[in-house]
Parts: sequence; C-alpha cells; structure tokens
Amino acid sequence: MKKILFLFLLLILSCQQAIKKETIDKSTFGIVIHGGAGTILRANMTPEQETGYRSVLAQAIEVGHTILKNGGSSKEAVEKTINVMEDSPLFNSGKGAVLNSEGTIELDASFMDGSNLDAGAIAGVRTIKNPISAAIKVMENSPHVMLSGKGADTFAAEQGLEIVSPEYFYTKRRINALMRVKESEAKKKGLTSNVEEVFLKHQRYGTVGCVALDLNGNLAAGTSTGGMTNKKWNRIGDAPIIGAGTYANNATCAISATGWGEYFIRSVVAYDISALMEYKGLSIQEAARTVIQDKVAQLGGDGGIIGIDQQGNVAMEMNTLGMYRAHMDSKGKLTVKIYKDE
Ligand code: ASP
Repeated sequence: MKKILFLFLLLILSCQQAIKKETIDKSTFGIVIHGGAGTILRANMTPEQETGYRSVLAQAIEVGHTILKNGGSSKEAVEKTINVMEDSPLFNSGKGAVLNSEGTIELDASFMDGSNLDAGAIAGVRTIKNPISAAIKVMENSPHVMLSGKGADTFAAEQGLEIVSPEYFYTKRRINALMRVKESEAKKKGLTSNVEEVFLKHQRYGTVGCVALDLNGNLAAGTSTGGMTNKKWNRIGDAPIIGAGTYANNATCAISATGWGEYFIRSVVAYDISALMEYKGLSIQEAARTVIQDKVAQLGGDGGIIGIDQQGNVAMEMNTLGMYRAHMDSKGKLTVKIYKDE
C-alpha cells in the first residue's frame, strides 16, 4: 500500500515538473504593429514616402522583437516599439500628431496587460513626449485607470517622464491638413460637412499600436494617437478607451485598433473580438473579420485592427484601402505591408 502511495506521489510530482517545464520552455512569441488605417493609395504615395514608412515600421518592430527574443516582457516590447513610432513625424502619435480645431495638439493613449487585466490610459494630454509610457505609469503607479488633461500631464511630470513644449509635436504636414479642413468648413459654414467628413477620412490615419506575446505566454496591447484632425470640444476617441481601441487578455488575445474612433467606441471593437473568441470559440482571424467587416462596417465606420493570440496567431484586418502594419514571429520572419491588396 505504502509503495503504491509513493509511486502515486512520484507521478504527481513528475506531472507538476512537466507542466512547469512546459510553461518555461515556451518558444513562441510574436509582435504586430500598425501605423494607422485609411484611404492609403499607391497613387498618392511617392516611392520615397513608401520607403520611409516601411523602414520606420521595420525599425520599430525590430526594437520590440529584440526585447521579446531576449526574454523581455510583452509590456516592455509594446512600450518601446510604440515609442519609436511616437518619435517619428510620419505617424499621428507623439511628434507628428494631428491638430484639433483650435490648432493645438491633444494626445490619447492606452495600455493593457493581458496577464492580470491591468490597464492604464491618458487622454487629451499636451506635453508628454511619449504618451504610451504615461499610460503604463498610470497603470503601475496610480490607483486609477484613466487620467485626462492637465492632471495627466502633471502626473507624467511627477513620474519623471520626458516633458516637452507643445510646439515639439507640430509638423508642417499636419498644420496644412488642419488649414484645408478649416477652409472646407468655412465654405460650408457649418460645423461638419460631407466635404470635411471625406477629408477627415483621408487625413485621420497614422495612429500607432502594438500587440505582443512574450516567452512567458503573456499578451499586451497598446495604442497611441493624436485623434482626428479638427476635433472639437476636447473630443476623445477610442484609442485611450479600454475595450474599444485597446484590449488584452491572456485567455484570448491582444488587440489594438485604428479607425474612425466614434464607431470603434460604439462597437466596443477590441473587447468584442476578445469576447467572440472567449464565448463563441472563434479564432482570432474569424473574430476580427466579424467585428471589422460586419459590425463596424454596418454602422458606417471604417478602420482596422491588429491582434495576436497566445499561440502567436495573428490578425491584421481592415475595411479601408490600407493600413500601415508589420508582423515579426519567433523565427524573426518580418512582414511589412501598407496596402490592403498586398
Ligand atoms: N482611432 C483614432 C481616433 O478616432 C484615429 C485613428 O485611428 O485613425 O481618435
């Protein structure tokens, strides 16, 4: 009897060892980024512009991939990768963000940790060089999930994050974009017009996002944006809203969205993809397709998402003509795409 008990205990112990080994030995990791979705056409892009976008996307994803390869967390990979895109004037986040109707720049960002469903977000900030880093600080060093406006700027400064003057974010391209919207607005003498809406569709893109799976099987997602050109009344989009623009849960997936924020908030895009996986057993690609091609499109919204699940499966779904995007898997295979038909 004692012998049987001993053998049974031995069996349990070796099973535990095997489970532990399985967790530690995981060799799958991956990272996906986007740099905004919209009417991105070959005809409107010079070869130099295209090369510029592709090389910053490759540079950014390489940073996160190196972190993951060396056993770093998905949180660090997401933050550092987004920092590269925030520092690039090409994207609508950090430097190069779009202007609001007053000609100033208000930035939104959020981050979610899939291992514990912890999250942080900031909205309408004006002086934080890297908003995604501030969102992570909110998650780690405050009792709150979302801070906005001046208070969020003050918090970031207190946390020792780099603070810059509002002028740092300005680029000529975004100033011109606002001027064009204002001109069409003046012509229409209304607050919004079809012309403006069409123009916004073309000018909005450039939000950045990153999702990652690390060697410990943890998922994370982050999104950072300047929002929409000519936005009014301290408008806040989907990017800083957990469940709309950003969501991560180790049980399902990590998602970062980009598109017409109002529709993405109403469709609770990022969480809906996760919920379809959790409750209906859909794959990440099926869930993303359902939400972007059916649900968002039916409401009249446009945009896209990037996502990754715990097995490293990836989704890059859009209902626009393009989305700046890149993926790098455990083996270091890099894919960089811009147009929908690539
Ligand atoms: N979703 C962002 C917003 O509505 C804009 C974008 O992703 O293009 O603020």
